[in-house]
Amino acid sequence: MSNPSLLILAGDGIGPEVMAEVKKIIGWYGDKRALKFDVSEDLVGGCAYDVHGKPLADETMAKAQEVDAVLLGAVGGPQYDNLDFSVKPERGLLRLRKEMDLYANLRPAQCFDALADFSSLKKDVVAGLDIMIVRELTSGVYFGEPRGIFTEGNERVGINTQRYTESEIARVARSAFELARRRGNKVCSMEKANVMESGVLWREVVQKVHDEEYPDVQLSHMYADAGAMQLTRWPKQFDVIVTDNLFGDLLSDLAAMLTGSLGMLPSASLGAPMANGRPKALYEPVHGSAPDIAGQGKANPIACILSFAMALRYSFDQGAEADRLEKAVEKVLADGLRTADLMGPEGGSPVSTSAMGDAVVAALDASL
Ligand code: NAD
Repeated sequence: MSNPSLLILAGDGIGPEVMAEVKKIIGWYGDKRALKFDVSEDLVGGCAYDVHGKPLADETMAKAQEVDAVLLGAVGGPQYDNLDFSVKPERGLLRLRKEMDLYANLRPAQCFDALADFSSLKKDVVAGLDIMIVRELTSGVYFGEPRGIFTEGNERVGINTQRYTESEIARVARSAFELARRRGNKVCSMEKANVMESGVLWREVVQKVHDEEYPDVQLSHMYADAGAMQLTRWPKQFDVIVTDNLFGDLLSDLAAMLTGSLGMLPSASLGAPMANGRPKALYEPVHGSAPDIAGQGKANPIACILSFAMALRYSFDQGAEADRLEKAVEKVLADGLRTADLMGPEGGSPVSTSAMGDAVVAALDASL
């Protein structure tokens, strides 16, 4: 049988720097766990624009459609800020998400004990936190028609439309229930059924998918504004939260920051299963290309490393190896290693991007 395939798109700024550390880890799995990947690499974002005049070449897009998973670093940078909207680096990422139809965006909010003091909330509220937000990514108010700025009488009006079909709701609900079965078996669905018809439909469809296909999973419903409050009051009450594109955008940022630095946050975007049963998938850190620290060896590679752990779990059915990698990260942090972004106001001596990657590899070695 051939090895699982992985397309690496390191991108711009700190993307290549953090990805270099992930490559060390991919190498480790091949050498030490006989878990080999067919890795190919290509360009996305500004670096693709420099070569092809567009942020994602058609051949790269085709490759992304064929592989088992795409791992992306980050795109963008000030030198591309004045480009036409159609060729901006971010368009490359949006094209990947759209053409791969990645409708379920998974954003874990996990608090490593060693970093619990780093949160803006009290330590006992966040220590041990492990929740997953599933955000619908390809529909809703960011895509609904009509949209635009129109003139009505003697003033302008800005319009966006929240629109969801039953099938769009059902498929993301299934993603959430499937995930919950592998975790704490609880899903909380969030919408605004009290004031939005799309929310009423959302609630009905999620309930129906639950009753017919996932009755074993515990389901609750919450209004999204109350959900935001509960996330800051007592986030540990949640396991999986499923919500629409707009609310998910806000709630996943809120939940993620409960746990500290942007440099720690991974994500996965999943689509429909391919012929081999694996979902179409793109894994990427939440952070951007961080031009302010690019090229200085200061970037925290953990978000990108944890994105690869998500790939092990959700694309390659290697849950035990994903656990191993997450534990290795936990150990390194518990040992006190910190990149600059994880330094508190009291300071200290930060380690470099590559030293952090090497330490994770050493912790993986120690796990054998
Ligand atoms: P950013 O995430 O790049 O950086 C925000 C702040 O967090 C910066 O101070 C940065 O130094 C810090 N930071 C981010 N990642 C870090 C890491 N791994 N380790 C240590 N510190 C880290 O967001 P921004 O500054 O708003 O955007 C910079 C560029 O990235 C822009 O061109 C933007 O369009 C792009 N961007 C891309 C993505 C993506 O590729 N998915 C996401 C957001 C922004």
